[in-house]
This record gives sequence, C-alpha cells and structure tokens, in this order.
Amino acid sequence: MAKKTPRALVAGNWKMNGTKTSLREVRLLVSMLKGVRLKCDVMICPPATLLTKVRDLTRSSRVITGGQDCHASESGAHTGDLSAEMFADAGAGAVIVGHSERRADHGEANGDVRAKATAALRAGLTAIVCVGETHDERKSGATLRVISAQVKGSLPEGASADNTIIAYEPVWAIGTGLTATADEVAQVHRHIRKRLSALVGEEQGSRMRILYGGSVKPGNAAELMAVANVNGALVGGASLKAADFIGIIKAYT
Ligand code: PEP
Repeated sequence: MAKKTPRALVAGNWKMNGTKTSLREVRLLVSMLKGVRLKCDVMICPPATLLTKVRDLTRSSRVITGGQDCHASESGAHTGDLSAEMFADAGAGAVIVGHSERRADHGEANGDVRAKATAALRAGLTAIVCVGETHDERKSGATLRVISAQVKGSLPEGASADNTIIAYEPVWAIGTGLTATADEVAQVHRHIRKRLSALVGEEQGSRMRILYGGSVKPGNAAELMAVANVNGALVGGASLKAADFIGIIKAYT
C-alpha cells in the first residue's frame, strides 16, 4: 500500500515581534483564509503576551496557535519563564523548542531541548523541535552528523508522529535571505526521515512531519514545499504580514 504523506503544516514564528497593533494581521489572515480550500494546517506562534488574543481571534477559523519555547518544569521559581502547561492553558496547541536562536542565545544543548519537548508532551502540546547546522558546520561537511546528533538528542520521550514535529532550519538561512537549495533540503530531509525511522520506528517515522525553515517567502515556497519529505514550513519574518504568510500557505492550495 502506498504510504500516506503527512498533512502539511505552515507555522509562523513571530519571535520577539508583535504588539497589539499586530493583531490586525491576524484578523486579515483569518478573513483571507475564509473560503480557501486548505491542504495544510496553519499555525501562528506569537509572543506569549499576545497568545490569548491571537487564540480569541482565530478560534472560529482553522488557524491554530503555538507558543515559543517553554521551561521543562510544570511550575516553580523560574522568573520570566513559562511552562508548557501555561501555554496549554492559554490556548496553544504546540510549542517551538530548540530554535537555533535559543540554542545560541541561551546555550541550550540537545538535552535541554529534549527536556522542554518532553514537557510539551506532558502538557498535551505538540513539540516542534528545531534542528539545523551552522554555516561552518556545512562548510566542513558536518551537516548530516550534526543533524543526526540533534535529532537523536532532542526528540522527546514518547515522541510519535501525532505529538512531535521536526523543523529543519539551517542556521545560516534564518533571517538572512539565504535559502538552502532544493537539493540541499532534499538531502537533509531524507536523512532526518531515516533517522526518525530508526529512532521511533518505521511507521511513526514515516508519518512524522518535517518542516523546512529559513527565509521561506511567497516566491520560493512552492519550490521548497514540493521537495520530497518536506511537510510544511516554519516561517519567521514572512509570517508577520498576512499577505506574505498567505502567499506561502498558497503553496498548499
Ligand atoms: C525562523 O526563525 O524559524 C525562521 C525560519 O526565520 P526566517 O523565516 O525569518 O528565516
């Protein structure tokens, strides 16, 4: 029997961008999506300060909401941190963990990412686990080795196709305007698929979604989303404006 391709997801990572005025982009997105036959899921991961507002605005639409990063613990003395349970309480369905900006700015190692992703599952959220090589790692031919170590070390306990998503985001392509070529993306996504099958079993590994992220825009989305084993996109800058984000989502209409 032919293998079923996992349903794609286009997720917008707003990072540390957005205030109440940005909610007009959410309203716009919801109205632009009305009546569109979508062949993918759509998610917005706003800053935590806007999460409940975005949830309220998207409640009657097919747009789901996600959080950005979570603490591994359920609660406690961790000033400024947010737990996965808090994100779930605020209406998130998922949380992004292990983003390269967290790995670089906060020294998060694979073990930290795994603990956060495991916390996400504990709270009933989908863990979106980011992996990606730096420019130096790619230049030195270490890409696949780095990705293998990140996938193995960051996957949450109890990972399955229904609760975990991998986002391949080459660090050198994030926010730089540079994108990996279709061949580069195909090579890494094929490699991740194989690693997943080895780690969580063939059935789950073949169904787990693998997103591509790194300067995805309306102009390159169709080509990148057509690559084998690419099951959607994690979008930074281009998710901030509804018109750009919808241009990417349209790769799936
Ligand atoms: C990201 O931060 O997840 C990302 C992919 O950013 P950008 O699309 O801006 O490169």
